[in-house]
Amino acid sequence: MSAGYSVGSHPMTASNALQRESHLEARPMVSPSAPAMPAERRTRIVVVGGGAGGLELVTRLATRLDRKSCEVMLVDRSRTHVWKPLLHEVATGALDANLDELAYGAHARRWGYTFVLGEMEAIDRVARELILAPLWDEAGRQIGGRQRIAYDGLVLAIGSEANDFGAPGVRENCLRLDSRVDADRFRQRLLEQCQRVSRAASASPPRTESVRIAIVGAGATGVELAAELHEVARSLGAHGSGLFDQACIETTLIEAAPRILPALGEKLSAAARVELEKLGVRVRAGVKIVAALPGGFMTADGEMIGADLLLWVAGVKAPPVLERIDGLERSRSGQLLVQETLQTTNDDRIWAIGDCCACPWPGSERPVPPRAQAAHQMAATACENITRGLRGRSLRQFRYHDHGSLVSLSRYMAIGTLMGALVGGQLAIQGTIARLFYKSLYAMHLTAIHGSVRGAVHIALGAVNRVIRPRLKLH
Ligand SMILES: Cc1cc2nc3c(=O)[nH]c(=O)nc-3n(C[C@H](O)[C@H](O)[C@H](O)COP(=O)(O)OP(=O)(O)OC[C@H]3O[C@@H](n4cnc5c(N)ncnc54)[C@H](O)[C@@H]3O)c2cc1C
Repeated sequence: MSAGYSVGSHPMTASNALQRESHLEARPMVSPSAPAMPAERRTRIVVVGGGAGGLELVTRLATRLDRKSCEVMLVDRSRTHVWKPLLHEVATGALDANLDELAYGAHARRWGYTFVLGEMEAIDRVARELILAPLWDEAGRQIGGRQRIAYDGLVLAIGSEANDFGAPGVRENCLRLDSRVDADRFRQRLLEQCQRVSRAASASPPRTESVRIAIVGAGATGVELAAELHEVARSLGAHGSGLFDQACIETTLIEAAPRILPALGEKLSAAARVELEKLGVRVRAGVKIVAALPGGFMTADGEMIGADLLLWVAGVKAPPVLERIDGLERSRSGQLLVQETLQTTNDDRIWAIGDCCACPWPGSERPVPPRAQAAHQMAATACENITRGLRGRSLRQFRYHDHGSLVSLSRYMAIGTLMGALVGGQLAIQGTIARLFYKSLYAMHLTAIHGSVRGAVHIALGAVNRVIRPRLKLH
C-alpha cells in the first residue's frame, strides 16, 4: 500500500516528504536550551514516550537508519524505563524496580540515538515542533524553560491512563497504577498500613486490626494486583514485620461488569474468580461505583465499601495532553485515530503507536486493544514504515496478531488464552505453563531493547535476583 504524505496541495509519497525536508536548511531553534542541530541538517525522527512501544521503536530505528543523514530522538518525562506490565509487582514490592529499570541516557548512548528528558506539553504542527513543558526541581523551582524541538517525523507513544468516567472523588482519594511513581506511592502507603497493623498487634493489650484494600476494575491489572497482594501478606511475616498474618490484608476487587476479566471468555473468568477467592480476595462483580470517599467507595445501591487504601485501575483513556493538539482526530476515549500505516488520520508526519492510538482492527468492531503485545507489534511496523518512507518505498498496513491474553495470578499461576496457528485457533490455558508464556512477553521486550545476547543476560539476572534477594522490597 502506498500512503501519500500531503504537503500543501501537492500530494507526495512518504519518501518524498521526508527526503525533501531533509535537504532543507536547519531551522533555528526557538529555545536556546533545545538540543543543538548540526550545521548540516539531518532528518530528525522524534519519538515521544519510551514505554513498551516507544523504547522498542527507537532501538529499532537507531539500528536501521543511517546516522549520517538521520537522527533518532527519544523524549520521555522520566529518566528511566520500567516495563508497565510489571507495575503491579513494583506496587506490592514483589519486584525491586531499581534492579529492573533501564536508564534512557545509557541506553541511548549504546544504541546511537539522542535522549531528551521532558514532558510533551503541545505540538506546533505548522512549525513542525514539539513543545516540552518547563522542568522543575523537587522543591518546585524551575530549572529549565519551555523547549521546542523540530521534527521531520513525530511518533507519539505516550501510553494511557485509567479512566475514572467522571466519578467524583477518584482523583482526590484513589491511588492509581499508571506509572512507576504511582506504583512506588502505593507500596509506601501499603507498608505504612502494614506497620500500623503490626504495631496494634504488639500493643498491650494487643489489638487485631487489618489493612482493607479496595480495587476498582477487575481487568488484567486489578486481578493481577489483587493476587499479588496475597503474596505480600504471606511474605511480610517472614520478613520480620512483627505480628503479621495473612488475614491482615483484606482485599476487595470491584467490577461494574457482571464478571471479572470481561475480555476473556466466561470459563476463564469463572476459573480466575475461583483462584482469587481461594487466595482470600473478595470479588464483587456487577457493582457500580458512583463516588470515591476518603474512607471507601460508594456504590450505586448506596452501599459503602470501606477501605484504608483505595485503588482505581478501571478503564483506559488517552493522556489528557492529546486534547491540546489541534486538528488530530481522536476516539471517544481520547486516543489518536490512525490509519492502517499508523500515521494519524489528519497528519501523515505524525504517527501514533501503543495505547495512545486507536488503530483499526479489520474483522473487529473495536480498535486494536491497549496491550503490550500490540505496542510491541506496532513498534515493528512503525519502524518498517518510517524506514520505507525515507527510502522512497510504499508503506505497509499494520495487522495486529492476537497471540492471546494471559493474566498472572501468583508466582506460579497464570490464566488466559493462547491464539494462533500454533494452537489451531484459541486455546484456554492456566497454571504453570500459562505462567511461562506470561513471562515470555517480558523476555521478548528485553530482547527487543537489549538485543538477543544482552537480553538473555538480563533474563538470567532477573531469575538469579528472584532467588537471592528478599521476596519483598520493604522500602
Ligand atoms: C499493572 C499492569 C499490568 C499489565 N499487564 C499486561 C499484560 O500482562 N499483557 C499486556 O499485553 N499488557 C499489559 N498491560 C498493558 C500494557 O502495559 C500497555 O498496553 C503497554 O505498556 C502500552 O505501551 P505504550 O508504549 O503504549 O505505553 P507505555 O508503556 O505506558 O509507555 C508510555 C511512555 O510515555 C511516557 N510519557 C507519557 N506521557 C508523556 C509526555 N506527555 N511526555 C513525555 N513522555 C510521556 C511515559 O513516561 C512512558 O515511558 C498492563 C498494564 C498495567 C498497568
